[in-house]
Amino acid sequence: MFFVDLRKMPKVTFRKLGRHKATGMAHIPMDRRLDSHIEIDSRLKGREKFETYLHEALHLALPDLPEEDVLKAARFQALVAWAEGYRHRGKPNSSSQ
Ligand SMILES: [Zn+2]
Repeated sequence: MFFVDLRKMPKVTFRKLGRHKATGMAHIPMDRRLDSHIEIDSRLKGREKFETYLHEALHLALPDLPEEDVLKAARFQALVAWAEGYRHRGKPNSSSQ
């Protein structure tokens, strides 16, 4: 059984994901003692990167939500938040932007 502890920050890592045909990936542990994990394509920037964070986080929060709904919700949330001026401030371990 899959389990994501939503009180804990998932591990977030960056690498080139091109061959997976995805901009991000969400990994849900089979063992509740292990952390969930989000991978983001290291080449993403700006709103696309932001939307990918939201998308993968939504997969962890609601693992049964169909891909189409995850796409729709993350895209809309990114649109609204971006229009309100939310931006990534940059962290040493989260690549460029
Ligand atoms: Zn997805």
